[in-house]
Amino acid sequence: MSGAAPIIDGSTIQGPTVKSPTIKGWCPGALRPMESGDGWVVRVRPRAGRLSQDQARGIAALSAAHSNGLIDLSARANVQLRGVTMASHAPLIDGLRALGLLDESTQAESQRNVTLAPFWARGDGAHDVALDLSAALTSPSAPRLPSKFGFVVDMGVAPILRNIAADIRIERISGGALIYGQGAQTGAMVPLAQAVQTALHLAQWFVDAGGIGADGRGRMAGLLAQGRAAPAAFAQCAVPAALPFAPHIGLHKAGALVGFEFGQMQAETLAKLAGLGPLRITPWRMVLIEGAQTMPTLAHVITDADDQMLRVIACTGAPACIQAHGPTRDLARALAPHIPQGQVCHVSGCAKGCAHPTAAALTLTATPSGFDLVQNGRAGDTPTLAGLAPSYIPQALNAL
Ligand code: SF4
Repeated sequence: MSGAAPIIDGSTIQGPTVKSPTIKGWCPGALRPMESGDGWVVRVRPRAGRLSQDQARGIAALSAAHSNGLIDLSARANVQLRGVTMASHAPLIDGLRALGLLDESTQAESQRNVTLAPFWARGDGAHDVALDLSAALTSPSAPRLPSKFGFVVDMGVAPILRNIAADIRIERISGGALIYGQGAQTGAMVPLAQAVQTALHLAQWFVDAGGIGADGRGRMAGLLAQGRAAPAAFAQCAVPAALPFAPHIGLHKAGALVGFEFGQMQAETLAKLAGLGPLRITPWRMVLIEGAQTMPTLAHVITDADDQMLRVIACTGAPACIQAHGPTRDLARALAPHIPQGQVCHVSGCAKGCAHPTAAALTLTATPSGFDLVQNGRAGDTPTLAGLAPSYIPQALNAL
């Protein structure tokens, strides 16, 4: 992406040009679906991100029977069924309950936000910590946290989920666990057996310290940024630096990591994957087929780490999302061959940037008057170019 002067159907501007998207402040659940342009979105939260083969087969069958058959993987390692209707929601819920994938209440499902790094091994304690934390968060004595408040359990040899959104992180350190709040420079170092209770202690401090606003929202990073200091136990140990991590499609010790165009698959694809082993849902919108020692050869499953479609990220966009200012995925497909290996281009239907809340090398955000282009930023950031017509964008990118 270098060379001649840019050919651009837009202009350099000083600030955002469109009104902010609606922020609901909550994520969909199974019991509390969210309305979208193609019906209700029902989010299923597999415990510790793992689906047994029966559960994965069951979700595929429920999706085919009670939704439009499209299944999204979310950035929190959840599974979303799209196109659910008021009439189909009840039988879908009955089916999810029979699969052991439902919580007791909307409160419980909204609290159970635990993302586990997917490369855990039996006996290393990570899966147990994630399960125990999930159970503790739904107990009556758990801190009442905002619905977007989340925990990351990242207990491999080195952390790999530092760029995944979270409020409280649990990592491995010196044979124990390091627990710290997002944005903190220090944390508490405890034996593994105390990891869950220490994380809950920090969460309770967040609540008691006024981390939740009058609107019911609040994030740990925001509270710490106000200068509030966590309890002394969390000043014990410096949070070590970690190298940036990018997931690699291919074989790993724990199984085969595979991808999907825009992190979305058909119910039929999920049913076929379920035949290969238990599935670990990852926050990279990929799936790890637990125990697989060869890469699968399935239609609509990305198994090549160099696949161009891994370089583009796009949200649902119009017409399936009612907030979108335009379609996103056809543009992303057209741009994929123009994106150099190692870079990511994010195409967003609006400034909310659901599909990639963090910065990308290139972000194109749909507005009522075309696409805004942000370099090294997020969907809502100030663009360097505005009002780009989709047909001009490949040329504009080549000229950057
Ligand atoms: S970012 Fe995309 S999916 Fe999210 S609200 Fe905007 S258009 Fe909809």
